Amino acid sequence: MSISANLSHIHQQIQQISKQYQRDNVRLLAVSKTKPVEAIQAAIEAGQRAFGENYVQEAVEKIEFFANRPELEWHFIGPLQSNKTKLVATHFDWIQTVDRLKIAERLNEQRPVDKAPLNVLIQINISDEESKSGIEPDEMLPLAQAISQLPNLKLRGLMAIPKPESEPEQQKIALRKMQQLFNRLQAGFDGIDTLSMGMSDDMAAAIECGSTMVRIGTAIFGARA
Ligand SMILES: *Cc1c(COP(=O)(O)O)cnc(C)c1O
Repeated sequence: MSISANLSHIHQQIQQISKQYQRDNVRLLAVSKTKPVEAIQAAIEAGQRAFGENYVQEAVEKIEFFANRPELEWHFIGPLQSNKTKLVATHFDWIQTVDRLKIAERLNEQRPVDKAPLNVLIQINISDEESKSGIEPDEMLPLAQAISQLPNLKLRGLMAIPKPESEPEQQKIALRKMQQLFNRLQAGFDGIDTLSMGMSDDMAAAIECGSTMVRIGTAIFGARA
């Protein structure tokens, strides 16, 4: 199937699941990591505007390639080392993987003055995986408090990559925890509107549990090499 057919199929699914669970605010982030600019071009022609990338250098080349398309929105969704923060601060519109104050402070300092504040999601290690990035749930409010003081960042919400589970009931255990954390964050801070969770294999359960942004790669662009 073509990228445009895949996108319209996913939009149909999102619409149908949203209707079932009475949600009306689910956005689609097209995860284009490792995919060539031609694939992104095809998605743009099909109406897609928001793209997620994991590798800084690769992403910057793509963002520069599409510099004449200011309507595009670029989200950094990979782990970020502190020596790469400047590239993210300079080129991206969003970062979804902030899990340390030091990274947030560097992004705040390095955000160009002529750009809007960088939109930030705090990444939560919701499945409590030793190896995974993200903060523990009980560190959320203090980190959010600190980030909310940084003028060149705009805290928008939370992101998680739960441990893969094949059964929806199992998937929903971590997703419901994220929903509760998100409610708590919204109660404490202004402007919190984004809960980024749900990938190709758990999209339906994520929307049921209140996701406002699903991050889909394979189901749009096909398998990665
Ligand atoms: C690769 C990736 C995705 C997309 O995963 P698919 O299974 O290809 O849909 C979503 N979120 C993050 C953080 C990723 O790294």
